Order: sequence, then C-alpha cells, then structure tokens
Amino acid sequence: MKVSASLSNSSENPASVLTKVTVLGATGSIGLNTLDIIRQFPQKFQIEALSCRNSIEQLCEQIREFKPRLVCVNTSDQARELRESFRSGHSCPETEFVWGMEGLKQISRDPEVDLVMAAIVGAAGLEPTFSAVEAGKIVAVANKEPLVMAGELFVQTAKKTGAKLLPTDSEHNAIFQALHNESPERIARLILTASGGPFRDLPLDEFEQITLDEALNHPNWEMGRKITIDSATMMNKGLEIIEAHWLFNTPVEKIDVLMQRESIIHSMVEFIDGSFLAQMGLPDMRVPIAYCLGWPERLPLKIPRLDPVALNALHFEAIDEQRFPCLSLSLKAAKQGGGAPAVLNGANEKVVAAFLNEEIRFVDISKILASVMHVFDETLQQTKPDCFDIIPDFLLNILSLEDAVEADQWGREQAGEVLENLN
Ligand code: NAD
Ligand code: MG
Repeated sequence: MKVSASLSNSSENPASVLTKVTVLGATGSIGLNTLDIIRQFPQKFQIEALSCRNSIEQLCEQIREFKPRLVCVNTSDQARELRESFRSGHSCPETEFVWGMEGLKQISRDPEVDLVMAAIVGAAGLEPTFSAVEAGKIVAVANKEPLVMAGELFVQTAKKTGAKLLPTDSEHNAIFQALHNESPERIARLILTASGGPFRDLPLDEFEQITLDEALNHPNWEMGRKITIDSATMMNKGLEIIEAHWLFNTPVEKIDVLMQRESIIHSMVEFIDGSFLAQMGLPDMRVPIAYCLGWPERLPLKIPRLDPVALNALHFEAIDEQRFPCLSLSLKAAKQGGGAPAVLNGANEKVVAAFLNEEIRFVDISKILASVMHVFDETLQQTKPDCFDIIPDFLLNILSLEDAVEADQWGREQAGEVLENLN
C-alpha cells in the first residue's frame, strides 16, 4: 500500500488496505506499544521488519508471532545465530536477518515498506530514520533526538521525497490533531504540556540526595530509561520544543511549556483568534501511536477510556525554571540553532548514561551540561583558552547528516572531559 503523502482528504480509504510496517526498536516501550496496536488489527497491518539491539529473547517471540520478512539485530554474530536457529526450528524459514547500521537502513528504506515506526532511542536512530525519509516513507517519529540534531534536514528532505513525518510523541501528536491542516500563520502559540516529573514538588534543598530509583519513578508515564531521566530533568521538554519547532514550522519564541500535572491534556494550540484547541486522553502512548499508524483514519482502539467526571479537575501551573536548569539550557540551544541542539543532545546522552550507571548524581547532569554549553559558547566566540581560529562548520550549521553526527560527537567528547575531571 502507498498512502498519498499529502494531508488532503483523499476519497480512498487507506485503512482498508494492508499497511506494511517496519518497527525500529521493536523491543522498547514504544516498539511494544506499536506491536500491541498492530496485534489488534491484523487485517490492517503487516509487520515487514523488526529491529532491536538487546532483548533478543523478546525479539524471537515477536518473530514467531509476526513472521517479519526482515529482522535487524546489532551484530553479525547475532544475525548468524538467529538465522541458523530459525531455519532449523522451521518456525520462520523465510525471515532474512541483517545487522548493524547498514541493516537498520535497509529495513527502513525497503521498497515493500509503507510505514516506518522510528522508535530507537537517541542519536542511534538518526541514520535509519533519515533513510526512511529519503525513501519517501510515512515515518511515525517517536525517536525525537534525530529531529533535535538535524530537524531542518529532515523537513527539507521529506518535502523533496514526499515522505510524511507523523508526530508520535504525545505532545506533538496532540498538536498535530489540534492543528488539523491549519496553516502556521494562524498559530499564535503552541503550548507543550509537562507532567513535571517525579521532582515537581521536591524541595530544592533535597535535590542533592535524589537517587536513581527516584528519578526512574515517573508519576504518570511508563517509558524507557533514558527518556524517563530526561523527563525528571525536563531535558525531555526542551528537546520537545526543538522537535515542535521543526515539525510545525513554528518559531521557538511561539512555543511555551505549561505544567499539567495529571497528563490528561497532552498539549494545546492557541490560534490568532484567541481559540485554544487541546487534545485530551489518559496518558497512554497507544493513542498517539495508533493515530499515526491509522492516519488519516482513526482506529477503534480497545483501551481504558478517560472518565471526565472521575477526573474532576485539571491543574495548570507555570514551570519553575530554577528547578529544571536543563529546560533553560535546551531553550537557549533551541534559540541559538546551528549545531547547539545536536551538541547538547549528544552531551545529554553521554551524561544520562553516566547517571544510569550511577557514576554521577542527579544534580550533576545539569551542571555538566551547563559546562559543555559554556565551552560551546566560548568556542563560537573564540574566547576559549587554547582555542585558535578555526570554528568547526558543524558547530555553526547542520547541513548534512555528517555534520549532525560530528556535532553530537563533539558534545559527547566535551561531556566526557567534564565527567573525567569530576571523578
Ligand atoms: P526504549 O529504551 O524502551 O527502547 C529503545 C529501543 O531501541 C529498543 O528496542 C532497543 O533495543 C533499541 N535500541 C537502543 N539503542 C539502540 C542502538 N544503539 N541501535 C539500535 N537499536 C537500539 O526507548 P523508548 O522509551 O521506547 O523510546 C524510544 C524513542 O521514543 C526515544 O527517542 C524517546 O524519546 C521517544 N519517546 C518515547 C516515549 C515513551 O513513552 N517511551 C514517548 C515519547 C517519545
Ligand atoms: Mg513527549
């Protein structure tokens, strides 16, 4: 099936045709929710390809259930072992096993595939998601980091190839639903909502003692570990501002963040006539995922529903930026543009991994990132000690995937240096 890449009200009913899907990151939180929807609609969707890096046992179960034509794993050894085991077990003799970055790109651009669910975590999703865009696919973008790193490139390439970027992140999906083809000139403001995470009410003088378990204990959402930490620091909301800027062609100055502690209003659009449109529902990623899978139709989902009477009240609060320095850092990077978002994103991945390994404290995350962005500013202004003349192009502009990868690496290296000096 090939769905028209435009948003026009097509008379054909694409949902009645089989959509062939690649799931990048099938064993993660978004990947599993995606497969849960696909399981409910076997007449509408067919899994063509799956990928994962770890969780091979879980992947094997998925292969037996969905019988994909292609599977991508991390290493050539894993691919060989799975090939042998599935051949000898006769369960899926037709499945082809590929591996590594080339394998991920192959399953993203495969000519049989209509829709790619981009659900790898972090910068690792950059190249495979971009391959899907280059190949003109419908791309459900959950994996926000590639858009943060190289948003302009994604949007411009999608325009050229006819690829459709469907916002899967709950906030962006809410805005996508609320916008419904309104042109950017009619937007007064995009308002991203935030739960505030586990530390929204913690006294500031207790932040020094925050533990890993506390940071992983999100009040409203169950997600992968990296995004859960990003939600606790609010870096996630900062990355989402940059994501929204590119997806909705809206200046950063017109994107605000509001705390909505129940996570019922997933985001809002304020239009130039004073109307606000919001999208509501229980915090369940299957809703935005299904919206992208079924788009431009809606799928009749069997999931728990919001009961507004039981809910009783919704609360809105301004964000206390002092509490969430990562939000201020990302907002600054968003306004700086060029290589700043990719540098910050790369540094953040490095630092969050260190926190998840219990090498640093929660409060160190924002401190290290502030140091990295300080070095970034000094480098651009040529005021850094030992910094002679040449500013790398990738810090100024992201014109290619290579620039995005280099800026990401630069951010990781700077963060690595600060981390070393900390220990
Ligand atoms: P996760 O950690 O639960 O899953 C990540 C998946 O990617 C796994 O299948 C893993 O095997 C695979 N993977 C990890 N590193 C890889 C690598 N280097 N190469 C190839 N594959 C790799 O993550 P998640 O929570 O599902 O999030 C996925 C993406 O979606 C993230 O970018 C996140 O910001 C975004 N997102 C997630 C949620 C959510 O509810 N989980 C909501 C909004 C946006
Ligand atoms: Mg989100």
